[in-house]
Amino acid sequence: MLKTHACGELRLEHAGQEVTLAGWVHRRRDHGALIFIDLRDREGIVQVVVDAENAPEAHAVADRARAEYVLQVHGRVRARPEGFRNPNLPTGDVEVVAHKVTILNPSKTPPFYIYDDTPVDESLRLKYRYLDLRRQRMQRNLILRHHVVNEIRQYLNAHKFLEIETPLLIKSTPEGARDFVVPSRLHPGKFYALPQSPQQLKQLLMVAGFERYYQIARCLRDEDLRADRQPEFTQLDLEMSFVEQEDILNIIEGLYIHLVEKLLPHKRIKFRPFPRLTYEEAMSRYGSDKPDLRFGMELVDLTDVVAESKFRVFAQTVSQGGQVKGILVPGAANYSRKELEQLESHVKPYGAKGLLWMAFREEGIRSPAAKHLTPGEVQAIRERVQAQTGDLLLIVADQPDVVAAALGNLRLVMGDRLGLRDPNELAFAWVVEFPLLEWDEEEARWVAVHHPFTSPIPEDWALADTDPGKMRAQAYDSVLNGWEVGGGSIRIHRSEEQAKMFELLGITQEQAQAQFGHILEAFQYGAPPHGGIALGIDRLVAIFADETSIREVMAFPKTTSAQDLMLGAPSPISEEQLRELHLAIVLDE
Ligand code: ASP
Repeated sequence: MLKTHACGELRLEHAGQEVTLAGWVHRRRDHGALIFIDLRDREGIVQVVVDAENAPEAHAVADRARAEYVLQVHGRVRARPEGFRNPNLPTGDVEVVAHKVTILNPSKTPPFYIYDDTPVDESLRLKYRYLDLRRQRMQRNLILRHHVVNEIRQYLNAHKFLEIETPLLIKSTPEGARDFVVPSRLHPGKFYALPQSPQQLKQLLMVAGFERYYQIARCLRDEDLRADRQPEFTQLDLEMSFVEQEDILNIIEGLYIHLVEKLLPHKRIKFRPFPRLTYEEAMSRYGSDKPDLRFGMELVDLTDVVAESKFRVFAQTVSQGGQVKGILVPGAANYSRKELEQLESHVKPYGAKGLLWMAFREEGIRSPAAKHLTPGEVQAIRERVQAQTGDLLLIVADQPDVVAAALGNLRLVMGDRLGLRDPNELAFAWVVEFPLLEWDEEEARWVAVHHPFTSPIPEDWALADTDPGKMRAQAYDSVLNGWEVGGGSIRIHRSEEQAKMFELLGITQEQAQAQFGHILEAFQYGAPPHGGIALGIDRLVAIFADETSIREVMAFPKTTSAQDLMLGAPSPISEEQLRELHLAIVLDE
């Protein structure tokens, strides 16, 4: 090794020792005869002192060193004198007095500072990702990610899971996105699909008798662009045989607790056991199927209270099958009119026509709706929401899906404003009993809410021919602090039920045979009852690292427009490659 110690490991107990260090010049301070270099490696930073008088050659080399030069330093560790210690640095009690400094490699001036985390334009960060990754925040995030994956393996191995790899070159396995495809050179005109998930393969591993499988699996989905989406991402993918829903939830609950106890001593799990909300409950109480349960501020239904009101906004909405709901924001009654008006911008993008407010102030109730409501109605509303003096009620009257989306979002905004979303609190929860199917207007057919391999709740098979929209799935989502971090289901394991499901989804028998014949056939050879789940590792690590974007916890992410700015992908390929692959490019006009 070119070094005997890591920069970041040196402590008082090393004082007096001769050490050899190697790392990058984090910062350099030139005091003439004394040059101070903060030398950085993966373990941290230590101060190196180079004294012109005692080590003139070393000083001459240090004089040439600049930010991000790679140095090797031979020196002796010494305790810093009292008053010169740096309590903010783990190595701050010591410094290394250099007697020899070697430049292992110089560096161009980096396009941004490595030594602090001042914001830098993201495209510059992504173009020079190898430099961006040198920064402390990114080092910390990727190291945390490593530990998360390592602890996942430890925990699952201890629970008798087997890690099994599945191929990347497969046939389409639908998760509701478009496939990335790979042209076959050996089979002209044919394509492999890259897996949107290992879904079918892990089910086939259950048919194969492995009983407990997991994989840290890359998933590839050619989806439309969205702010925090990546065309490839990583899942903890898992499947178990001879289980019921509750068994899977318990395994995962144990895994989360394990991760937090091992890696996040500064964070608290808010509820144990994790609450289980039905989809309907989550939508009606929080306006979201991934509710942030760190705080209350639940949606309160006022529909019945105002159904008979003369106030047109309410009466009309109710008569058209709509709802009137509100959230009570504690202590916000004194928001200015302007502030209140601005809140509307948080509901309008969700289709709400407006936002009504009712402020319960010392001097009385203020509301633009007050003059349209009878005192009895105002009192009934106040009682329903249990408002105290000082509270602010925010009301949306609209169709149920609009009310849910608008108030669900507003609730999060108000939660942020009131500081109720503490990053050190982890409110894990389960959302269960999702609908099995949803109607796709465009395609004029039912589509699977989760995926076509999800089993309905057994008694709901009875609705298949009469009211498929009412069928509930044995599907569950893992939610954390307002994010969906995973989802899974108990699967169909009988061939005829799987065939029935394809039929419900408007897939003809021929199509089903062509696309999914393998799984229909496999289920005829004694497929065990089974189910599983997949957790989004990127999202999970982002939350654990207090990051809002998954790009901050991926080594080499793509931009929001799916480009790799460092590698320059996607890029054209040569004529020769195209010919080999039997492809011709046809560009749209
Ligand atoms: N394959 C599913 C997904 O990617 C997860 C599962 O059902 O296990 O969402």
